[in-house]
Amino acid sequence: MRAQLSQETPGPAVSVHIHIDPLPSTEHNMHHLPILIIGAGTWGASTALHLARRGYTNVTVLDAYAQPSAISAGNDVNKIVSFMQSPADDDPDFANRTFFAALSKGFQHDPVFKPHFHEVGSITSAFSPGGLKHIHRRNRPGDEVIELNTPDDFRRAFPEGILTGPLEGWKGYWKKRGAGWVHARHALLAAITEAQRLGVKFITGDPQGAVVRLLFAFSSSGDVIGAETADGQQHLAHRVILAAGANADRFLDFKKQLRPTAWTLAHIRMTPSEAAAYRNLPVLFNADQGFFMEPDADRHELKICDEHPGYCNWVYDDDDPDRGGQPPERRSIPFARHQIPLESADRIRALLRATMPQLADRPFSFARICWCADTVDRNFLIDYHPDYPSLLLAVGASGRGFAHIPSIGGFIVDRLEGRLDERLAATVRWRPELAVDRDWDDTLNRFGGEYRVMDFNESAGVKG
Ligand SMILES: Cc1cc2nc3c(=O)[nH]c(=O)nc-3n(C[C@H](O)[C@H](O)[C@H](O)COP(=O)(O)OP(=O)(O)OC[C@H]3O[C@@H](n4cnc5c(N)ncnc54)[C@H](O)[C@@H]3O)c2cc1C
Repeated sequence: MRAQLSQETPGPAVSVHIHIDPLPSTEHNMHHLPILIIGAGTWGASTALHLARRGYTNVTVLDAYAQPSAISAGNDVNKIVSFMQSPADDDPDFANRTFFAALSKGFQHDPVFKPHFHEVGSITSAFSPGGLKHIHRRNRPGDEVIELNTPDDFRRAFPEGILTGPLEGWKGYWKKRGAGWVHARHALLAAITEAQRLGVKFITGDPQGAVVRLLFAFSSSGDVIGAETADGQQHLAHRVILAAGANADRFLDFKKQLRPTAWTLAHIRMTPSEAAAYRNLPVLFNADQGFFMEPDADRHELKICDEHPGYCNWVYDDDDPDRGGQPPERRSIPFARHQIPLESADRIRALLRATMPQLADRPFSFARICWCADTVDRNFLIDYHPDYPSLLLAVGASGRGFAHIPSIGGFIVDRLEGRLDERLAATVRWRPELAVDRDWDDTLNRFGGEYRVMDFNESAGVKG
C-alpha cells in the first residue's frame, strides 16, 4: 500500500495525516491483512504468538530495541506466578479470575511456556497492619495455604541455614502448589521465537523498529492507519495494536488512564555452590518490604526487589496560563537507567538483613529501574480506541502483567476480532470516566517503602 504525505510534522509530534489508498476492510479476510504491533515486550510478544496461532499471516512487530528489549518490563530473570481456577459465573471478580485461570493453563500445558515455569510454591507475607489486612484479602478461597505466624514457621518453609534473619512481626500464607516463578526473559524469548517460526515479522532496534508516531488517515475518519519509525519508514496496517508498555502514552492522549510507574531491583552474585544451596526456594514476597526467589541458574544471580507503591518521574506542564489557580498538570515520563535510588538500595539491604543477613553486605552486580503503566483501578486496558476504530490498545499491565504472557495475547486477539467475553471486555474497556479526577498519588493498595508514590526528582542516586 502506498502512502502520500500531505503534511510532515517535525520532531516528536504524535500525529501525521496522510492520504492513502484505502484497504479493504471486511473482517472475513482480516487474517491476511497487515496487522502491526507496536512493542515486542511481554504483551506484544504474546499477541504476536496468538495471532500467528490463529492463522494471521501478515503480522509485523516493531520494537525500538533488539530482542529481548532492554527496556521491556519482561526482560528479567524471574517473575512471580500464581495459579487460579476458573471462576463461577457469579464470581464478583470474574474477569481477573478468568485471566488468571488462562495463564494457569498456559504454564501447565503450553509447550512454549511450560519449561520456564518453576512450581516451587510462594509465600505472601507482611508485617504492617495494612499489609497484613491486604494479604489476608488476597488470600483466595480454594487455594490450599498454610498459615505462617512466627519467624520459625517461615524458617521451616526454607532449607536450613537460609532464613537466618529475625523476620520480626512477619506473618504470611504459604501456597505450596500452583505458585512459583517463571524465567521471564526465557519465556519472552520463547514467545518471540515461536511467533517468528509461525511467520511473524519482527523489525527491531533503532531506528528501524523505533516508532516515533502513529499515522492517521487524512479522511474525515482520521483513523489510525499505521506507524512511522525513526528511519522515516511508514508501516501501514489494517489494524494497529499498541503494546508499548509504560511508553504507550507518548503516542496519544490516554485521558489520565495510564500512569507510568517504576519499581527497582538489584542482583547479587553468588558462587555456584551457594546457588545450588539456594535452589528451589519458595518465592518469598513481603508486601511491606520486598521479595526474592532462588538465584538464576545461568549466572547465579539473586534478584531482590524492594516493595513500595512505585516511583514516578513527574514533569509539570507550566505552559498553560489559563489554569485558573489550579496546580499545573503533571505526567510521569519513563526513562531507562541501570541504577536505583540510594534509598532503594538501602531498602533492599534491609530486606536481606531481615531475611538472609549473610548476604546483606554483598555488592550489587546489577541494578535497574523497571517501568510499567498503572491504570486507575489496576485492571488492564484492552480495547479499541473510541476515536480510531483501527487502533487496539493493549496496555495498563499495572505491575502484574508478566504472569499473563502465555494467555493475554489470546484475549487481545479476541478483542481484535470483536469476540471478547462481554464481562471481560467491560472490565478492560477504555474508561476515561474513572480517571477524570485521578489521584496521581494513589498507592493503589501497595505497601512498603515510604508507603507513598515516590518521585525520582526527589531521590538521590538516579537522576541528575
Ligand atoms: C520490578 C518489577 C517486577 C515485576 N514483577 C512481576 C511479577 O513478579 N509478576 C508479574 O506478573 N508481573 C510483574 N511485573 C509487571 C510486568 O513485568 C509487566 O506488567 C509486564 O511485563 C508489562 O508488559 P508490557 O508488554 O505492557 O510492557 P513491556 O514488557 O515493557 O513491553 C513494552 C515494549 O514496548 C517497546 N517500546 C517502547 N517504546 C517503543 C517505541 N517507541 N517503538 C517501539 N517499541 C517501543 C519496549 O522496547 C518494550 O519491548 C513486574 C514489573 C516490574 C517493573
